[in-house]
Amino acid sequence: MLCLWCQQKMEEGAVQSSKWVFFSKYPRYWWLGLGTKEGDTLLTKKHAFAPRVPAWNCPHCERVVIDYGNET
Ligand SMILES: [Zn+2]
Repeated sequence: MLCLWCQQKMEEGAVQSSKWVFFSKYPRYWWLGLGTKEGDTLLTKKHAFAPRVPAWNCPHCERVVIDYGNET
């Protein structure tokens, strides 16, 4: 995959976590609770054990593209 911003080849890999990962349009402080809320998008759904989703990294732009529809 080519980077959307600089058009260089991206590194293929995965985003992994020990807990779920989600995108939020309204970031909030962790001490207010990091449970998901309405409007959040879960990037990992199998969060019981080391969730992992395919992803591509551009080290030049320091940006990652996540394919959250294909969790492994
Ligand atoms: Zn780039």
